Amino acid sequence: MASTLQPVRGTHDLLPDSYAQHRHVIESAEAVARLYGFARMDTPIFEFTEVFKRTLGDTSDVVTKEMYTLMAGEESITLRPEFTAAIVRAFISNKLTQDLPFKAFYAGPAFRYERPQKGRQRQFHQIGAELLGAAEPMADVEMIALAHHTLRVLGLSDTVTLEINSLGDAESRAAYREALVNYFSQHASKLSADSQTRLTKNPLRILDSKDAGDREIIAGAPALHEHYNDASRKHLAGVLVGLSALGIPYAMNEKLVRGLDYYSHTVFEFTTDKLGAQGTVLAGGRYDGLVKLMGGPDTPGIGFAAGVERLVGLRDTLQVGREKEVSNVIAIIPMGETSEAEAWMLAQALRAEGIAVDIAYKGNAKKRFERVNKKQLTAAIILGDEEIAAANVTLKDLKTGTQETFPRAQLSEKLKHYVIR
Ligand code: ATP
Ligand code: MG
Repeated sequence: MASTLQPVRGTHDLLPDSYAQHRHVIESAEAVARLYGFARMDTPIFEFTEVFKRTLGDTSDVVTKEMYTLMAGEESITLRPEFTAAIVRAFISNKLTQDLPFKAFYAGPAFRYERPQKGRQRQFHQIGAELLGAAEPMADVEMIALAHHTLRVLGLSDTVTLEINSLGDAESRAAYREALVNYFSQHASKLSADSQTRLTKNPLRILDSKDAGDREIIAGAPALHEHYNDASRKHLAGVLVGLSALGIPYAMNEKLVRGLDYYSHTVFEFTTDKLGAQGTVLAGGRYDGLVKLMGGPDTPGIGFAAGVERLVGLRDTLQVGREKEVSNVIAIIPMGETSEAEAWMLAQALRAEGIAVDIAYKGNAKKRFERVNKKQLTAAIILGDEEIAAANVTLKDLKTGTQETFPRAQLSEKLKHYVIR
């Protein structure tokens, strides 16, 4: 058995330093989402297994091998492997289906039992957005613009490529499905076992296979766009016109099908070549049939999700945002017998003003100074018996080492220089 003092394989701790990067990504994404009218929400981290099983598709990687499912009493529940199905479930169960469009932003952990490697964990985090109730190509454009804007704010837009494809509507996909079955049936014996299963259950998914032998056969497969009906062609054209108008560069990728079953029309991914094999940082698409499939009224939807660890990893690789956060904490160093109680009172008064304070009360005076110096703070307030008797404080600038003693009433004013708000 693995040591119980190690985190479970595929999970990781977010220590304060890496947490700061993580939080920065989430907060930046949320701020951009708000600019587009998306409000943050959350759902429980587990749902009835059916919520994911029915929606993601029987042949999807997630459902066939990646779900964390457990029995709790009589109930089969699954840790969310993604948010979309959970958000749609919430949209239906909270009866939000009349108030459209519904625009939600989310961030939080997701769980998939897959082989851990760089950029691939078993507990990872996603940010994402969902837009329900708008079938117009404008909605696709808005989602892609939001994704693009988010990546730009994170300093990543020059390193990622937007790949886009259309899966067409249900009618076009049915026609394409037939063409694919025809084609792959001729090569059935050379397909991987997984793809042979897909051939009967969901041939479109073969296009998403990572098997090298499959990839060769896939290269000669018929093209989806040859099977679009008018509505599908028109929708895609509308999206592309919108992207061009906004100046968002894209590359068409006919082979982009996405791994989940519920997509239709537009699918897109922002990819990078800087993260090795796990190059997709953000992925999304339109899922017009999903709400109905889950038992709600027929409602179109579109959304995307991005892996927070991959975004942070890419920022690390490009060395953006690696500056240490400037600490905004002011130290108080009590120096005499009576000073500790005074230090506490002063600390509480400053905190009430919104100033972060750390009291150095461990060890002797020398140790206290050493500890404060190690923390790279901007300033320390020194409170000795003499200062207290005279209602003074001594403020030491920890960058320059200079210090000054003045009446306590002036402290707030003097601290302004050190506290960044
Ligand atoms: P992949 O092809 O890499 O397995 P996916 O299609 O399964 O990705 P999605 O379900 O679209 O991924 O999830 C959206 C995003 O979440 C991905 O683009 C990626 O950034 C991130 N992601 C997915 N699975 C993981 C994981 N196991 N560890 C870390 N990030 C992940
Ligand atoms: Mg996957």
